[in-house]
Amino acid sequence: MSSLSHSLLETILERMRSKGGRITQNKIRIIKALIDLDHPASAEEIREQANLPATKIVTVYRNLEVLSEIGTLQRVPLENGTQLFELTAPGEHYHHLICRECHQAERLDVCLGEELRGMAEAHGYSKINHIMEVYGICEKCDSPAT
Ligand SMILES: [Zn+2]
Ligand SMILES: [Zn+2]
Repeated sequence: MSSLSHSLLETILERMRSKGGRITQNKIRIIKALIDLDHPASAEEIREQANLPATKIVTVYRNLEVLSEIGTLQRVPLENGTQLFELTAPGEHYHHLICRECHQAERLDVCLGEELRGMAEAHGYSKINHIMEVYGICEKCDSPAT
């Protein structure tokens, strides 16, 4: 792990402690797995990366829930209704360009959120959030090797 991701791990653990959460070995393994993967991944991929047995998938989901509650996890919905998960710095979020075939996901360096927030506020809404992902077929999948 780079020093940057090490500090992300520390930030997240600190936030968990301040919310009274218990820090377990599994929790640390799951956070490290998300940092190492460094792209939106399914719960199954996270479990494998964390080197946890298949029976621990419930533990993975429970810890993802905890990360979501403290605001350092982003859920990336796929068109088929399943979800990928990505670690974010507390309070940040990203938009992605996702390949429909191989599920490669790239961060898009843009957020249209401010305008959307303004519109939602004009409708009298508060605690506004938005999810926006872009789907397509990546270059690699569009031209299969012959
Ligand atoms: Zn692809
Ligand atoms: Zn946004």
